[in-house]
Order: sequence, then C-alpha cells, then structure tokens
Amino acid sequence: MAKVLIIGAGGVSNVVVHKCAQLPEVFSEIVLASRTESKCKAIAESLSRPIKTAQVDADNVPELVALIKAEQPDLVINVALPYQDLHIMDACLEAGVDYLDTANYEPLDTAKFEYSWQWAYQDKFKNAGITALLGSGFDPGVTNVYTAYLKKHHFDEIHYLDIIDCNAGDHGKPFATNFNPEINIREVTANGRYWENGEWVETAPLSVNRVFDFPADIGPKKIYMMYHEELESIVKHFPDIKRARFWMTFSDNYLKHLEVLGNVGMTSIEPVMFEGREIVPLQFLKALLPDPASLGPLTKGKTCIGCLAQGVKDGKPKTMFVYNVCDHQECYREVKSQAISYTTGVPAMIGAKMMLEGKWKKPGVWNMEQYDPDPFMDDLNKYGLPWELVEIDASVMEG
Ligand code: NDP
Repeated sequence: MAKVLIIGAGGVSNVVVHKCAQLPEVFSEIVLASRTESKCKAIAESLSRPIKTAQVDADNVPELVALIKAEQPDLVINVALPYQDLHIMDACLEAGVDYLDTANYEPLDTAKFEYSWQWAYQDKFKNAGITALLGSGFDPGVTNVYTAYLKKHHFDEIHYLDIIDCNAGDHGKPFATNFNPEINIREVTANGRYWENGEWVETAPLSVNRVFDFPADIGPKKIYMMYHEELESIVKHFPDIKRARFWMTFSDNYLKHLEVLGNVGMTSIEPVMFEGREIVPLQFLKALLPDPASLGPLTKGKTCIGCLAQGVKDGKPKTMFVYNVCDHQECYREVKSQAISYTTGVPAMIGAKMMLEGKWKKPGVWNMEQYDPDPFMDDLNKYGLPWELVEIDASVMEG
C-alpha cells in the first residue's frame, strides 16, 4: 500500500498511470501532476478508479518541493522530459522521497547523453537515505535487466552485446515520431558510438547498418547502429563486455524525411531569429509534427526489442537472444496508447513496484542492472511484456 506522485502527462505517463491504477494493492494512492493539468485530468477520466491531479512546473524546484511535501508520496515517478531530471531529483532530496525516471538527464542546449550528472548525486542520495532508480523504461530499462539476467543465469562472461530495437509498426502518416519528437530526433541525429576494447568508438549518424531477421513474423529489417544511453552503464557494470552496440530499425521513408529536414536545418537545436524573435528549429518542427499520442489508434504492427549476447558458459561459446514482442493494437485496446509508450510505461510501473515492495531499494543512485533481475523479469511476464529466450547461431551479427 503506497502513494505515488507521477510527474508528466504525455504518452508514457498515460501508460504508467493506467498500469499503476490496475494494481491498487501496491499503488493505493496516485497523484498525477504536470505542467498542463488538463492533460492529467484527461488521463484521470479514462481510468476506472479515481486519482488526484495537480499542476506543477517541474523546472521550479520550490514549487515541486511544496507539492511533494503537501502530498507526502512514497515515491516520485518522473515521466516528464529528460530536461527535468535534475530538478526533480533536487526536489526529492529536499523532501526526502525516493525517485524513479526513464531517461538520463539532458541539458536543453546540448544533445549529450550521459549519466555523469545523475551519478554525481550518488552521495547526496546515500546520505539522505533515499533511493533513485535511473532509466526504468524499455531501453534503457528492460534491456539493462535482460543483460543482468543473461549474466546471472546463462553466461560466465558476456563478451559481445548487441541491443536491437525494432519498431515494425505503421501509423500511415508521412512522417511522425513515436515518442516526444524533440527527444527522438536529438537522439537519432547524434553521432553513433559503441564500446570496443575499453573505449568508445564514434561513427557518423546512422552510417553503419545491416539486416537482422526478427522473430514473430516481423522478418528481416535493416538495423542502424546508434548511441543509446544504457550502453554507458552496462559496460561500467559488466566489465567483461568487450564490445557493446545499439541498433534500431528505421524505414527508408523515415530516413528520407529526416535527411531533408536535417539538410534544411529543421532538426537543429541552435536558436535562429525568425520575424524578430528567437526560435529553436527543432522545437518549431515538434509543433508541426503529429502528437505521438495521436498515433495510438492509427498504429498497426509489432515492436521487438531484445539483447543478443555472445560469451562463454562452462568454457563453451554461447549466443543467446532475449526479447519481447509487443503489438501496437493490443496495447491500444488495453490502455489507449501505442506500443512505444506501452513498452516504456510498463517497466516504469514495475520499477516503481520493485522499489515500493522493498525488493529494489538501497540509498543511493542506481541503474537497473545493479539490482537482482529475477523479480523484475517475473513481473514483465505478469504485467504485459512477456519475454522469450532462445539460443541462436553467433553468425547472425557477423558482417
Ligand atoms: P511527452 O512529450 O508525450 O510527455 C512529456 C510530458 O512532460 C508532457 O505532459 C509535458 O507537459 C510534461 N512536461 C514537460 N516539461 C514539464 C515541466 N517543466 N513540468 C511539468 N511537466 C512537464 O513525452 P513521452 O511521454 O513520450 O516521454 C516521457 C519520457 O519517457 C521522456 O523522458 C522520454 O525520454 C522517456 N522515454 C523513455 C523510453 C525508454 O524506453 N526508456 C522510451 C520513450 C520515452 P505538456 O503537456 O505541458 O507539454
């Protein structure tokens, strides 16, 4: 029996709130607060049990502290944007409440994906006796837990790790992103980076690709290597890993639009003057693109996200793939969101459940793979993201 304060009322929040509301024995009280309270109210109205809503600017630490102190939640779930992470962590420290998020902090003016800022809070959280769980979405999140599970049960050493994220869904729009367009485009247009033999190797954005044959009738798709934040914590916590890479599928159509938008400067985060005022092209583009939440009823098809690990067990080489397949339309039927928000929101709820049940709780700032993966893996099967584990031929990632 616990009370949670959920901050942010976008696509991911909608799923987190629905999933928490389905488990009143854990989440007995829910408060949903965001910049625009009407969005919280719209989510609240779609639920079968009452929750409280509030207005808050999560960049205003005193305002947040006042809300947390007034509501006295056991945990704050941050599903606003990465720009708010440090402000919400500061407010949790001041109010003495546990913290969870789904994406690492990003400064608004630099597309820089790293945990340094949040890891710097380790001693502050430890001294305050409160816990912060970082990156409890799918990737980061489930992919970190998959890696920990593979290492715990199936490998003595993991040498090569490939995290592979496929969205084989189709929303029928010429160009749209499946989650916050600004965050998505900043990530995709950044340089690629992978870990090899103790150092990071940089690649030009989306310049390395290959074809991967996905399970569950998705079939072969082109995957592109890019940087993703969980690589940083995974290689730190599993030093046996010699090479770690992240891959994502993109349709030719998506890449064509992105290239043109990039060429004309629309994906830039550098401010420009327009009719006497400063605007950020990417923020303007976000205003033109479809709201990811509006894609829910339109999106058909499946997602498949998994970890492919190569290593040794009992002196013998071994390759395993652990993955989840999620169907956009089934997600929409359950919680009125497409699978991208669903695959992020369900792990956020499970991470919160782990903390509130005391299974994942120790003062300090932690990444997902630092805890025992077993109870989380069990809950993935129970709450909507069942996984499969198969032994496969190592040659699938050659070339
Ligand atoms: P949305 O843009 O749909 O929602 C963000 C919400 O945060 C909006 O309700 C927005 O309010 C609110 N918000 C923004 N700024 C503030 C502020 N200063 N104070 C209070 N509320 C604020 O994003 P998504 O739901 O798609 O994504 C949510 C998070 O999930 C992001 O951090 C994203 O990076 C992460 N994510 C993680 C994934 C993973 O697998 N780990 C995958 C996908 C997303 P308003 O409505 O007023 O704009």
